[in-house]
Amino acid sequence: MCHLKKMEKNFYVTTPIYYVNGAPHVGSAYTTIAADVIARYKKTQGYNVYSLTGTDEHGQKVEETALLKGLTPQAWTDLMAPKFQEMWKLLNIENDDFIRTTEPRHKSAVVKILSTVYEKGDIYCGEYEGKYCVSCENFVPENQIVENKFCPDCGKELRVVKEESYFFKMSKYQDELLKHIDENPNFILPQSRRNEVINFIKQGLQDLSISRNTFTWGIPIEFAPGHITYVWFDALTNYLTAVGYENNLEKFDEFWNNSEVVHLLGKDIVRFHAIIWPCMLLSAGIKLPDKIVAHGWWTSEGEKMSKSKNNVVDPIEEVKKYGVDAFRFCLMREVNFGNDGDYSTKNIISRINNDLANDLGNLLNRTLGMYSKYFDGVIVEGKNEDEFTKNLYILFEETLIVVERSMEKLEFSKSMEAIWKFISRMNKYIDETMPWLLAKEESEKVKLGGVMNTLVEGLYKVAVLIYPYMPVKSQNIWDQLGVEKSIKNSLIEDIKEWNHFKKGDKLGVATVLFPRLEVLVEEAKNELEINENLKIENPTTIEKFGETKIEVVEIISVEKVEGADRLLKFKVKTGKEIRQIVSGIAKNYPEFKLLEGKKVLAVLNLPPVTLLGILSQGMILSTEDKKNGIKLVEISQEIKVGAKLK
Ligand SMILES: [Zn+2]
Repeated sequence: MCHLKKMEKNFYVTTPIYYVNGAPHVGSAYTTIAADVIARYKKTQGYNVYSLTGTDEHGQKVEETALLKGLTPQAWTDLMAPKFQEMWKLLNIENDDFIRTTEPRHKSAVVKILSTVYEKGDIYCGEYEGKYCVSCENFVPENQIVENKFCPDCGKELRVVKEESYFFKMSKYQDELLKHIDENPNFILPQSRRNEVINFIKQGLQDLSISRNTFTWGIPIEFAPGHITYVWFDALTNYLTAVGYENNLEKFDEFWNNSEVVHLLGKDIVRFHAIIWPCMLLSAGIKLPDKIVAHGWWTSEGEKMSKSKNNVVDPIEEVKKYGVDAFRFCLMREVNFGNDGDYSTKNIISRINNDLANDLGNLLNRTLGMYSKYFDGVIVEGKNEDEFTKNLYILFEETLIVVERSMEKLEFSKSMEAIWKFISRMNKYIDETMPWLLAKEESEKVKLGGVMNTLVEGLYKVAVLIYPYMPVKSQNIWDQLGVEKSIKNSLIEDIKEWNHFKKGDKLGVATVLFPRLEVLVEEAKNELEINENLKIENPTTIEKFGETKIEVVEIISVEKVEGADRLLKFKVKTGKEIRQIVSGIAKNYPEFKLLEGKKVLAVLNLPPVTLLGILSQGMILSTEDKKNGIKLVEISQEIKVGAKLK
């Protein structure tokens, strides 16, 4: 194998090819949106990008289903594949290629990799007897079989299959693969999945049966007449097919050999991608992908999705309700990629109303409204060099750094958290600079222009940062700002300076970016019922509660405490003074600098204590649950410092 260094800025991202027997659902939509977001993001970073999705069309179950429908397997897959293509169109996915494993180009690629591995001496003939899951297309090892007959992954009953079979010498690559994983900490993400794979390999890899002769719907093996290719060996090869492995070596050089290669997938198929696939590539002498990134599962309103519970999230319905951009945004923002997440109507509505309608939509609306009122919507010359403006500039530079760092690990949610911190800071900037007061003084006109220009420049930048998630709304922001360009080809490099707008430029027409979803909130409220006979445990009294003085404080600065990796040292502004509070939450806030500027609740009448020699003058309130760990109780920016909790 070769460890080629990247020569150019090429980027290749894939989703799994989806199993054609089922319809696309929120899980496949999630992976595909994530792939689209990272592809669009890399383009804003100046990368030459290729993105791939497609359908997995071979295997026994497809053959059986087609038979039941009275169709040939090919006719059945021809009917199903377009359902995926239509869904990706609806979700505004800009894939460069859509591969179907029944295409001639893919069949030739599988023939090529099989013969390469065969000539290497890594395939031998043997006999396989085992318990096979038709649904997952997978032989299940004895120690994983549930109650002696059920599949551990899908729960269906296994079949005993005994057949002559060709085996791939996967065991031969065990040590080389472990070494690669060890040397490349980001090869399998997130960490939890990486550990799982390492443990699995260390138990010892077995050779893999890669041929079948009990059914015919698959790719024939040239050196093994009567056998077809095991469906996973077939399916995984699609990642090579699409970039020209078999028929376009120039393209293959561009997007495989000299490219960053990233596979996105659900956590259920990590082992196929992180064990079988790299072993196949090692044997065929092909460079390994750079990152294999697994995401978690979605539940619906806290419960597992199932047809019987009637709680399956249908992307088509969600897009109808909220619009495609809001749906894409919520999926990517709601959970950290890699973790499991819950799809809840209440959370979605709250995200749309708070993050999109309030924070972003209002900022745009207020800015355009003021520009129109003070300067008729025509850009003026301005100058403003106060601390507020300087701080905003600094925060923007920090935002770009956090975005880049998070996106390297596909931490979409963290990246958006940073973008929204900047958006909140812009809202605060309006409160700090108070343009309505500046507008009253003729002598402040230049400063007013400076403030207003900072706001339109900031919004111009925000549009580019959110473009990967919300391609339509980001263009809409540019339109409202009067920018006569397509946002599609914009580069992060071009938004580093605050100088896009020129004197005389005309701003566009202000419209509502995201309408608030009031009605739906009412509906959700009506569903709530209360228990009138509730028993209260450990009752307290209003008087006792009132003895605790809890107030809103603003976090001014956060620092790590040397020699105590659990502790963070906060400087907070209370209604009266600045206090220092030490809190043991460092593990939960690796990006603790993002807390600066946030408003939180603190208990202020506790006696001061000294923790590891550091004075602590209060306690910041937090919540703890299994999903999020410890989180500070954040208070809306509208609430003033010193407001009392009653
Ligand atoms: Zn199964």
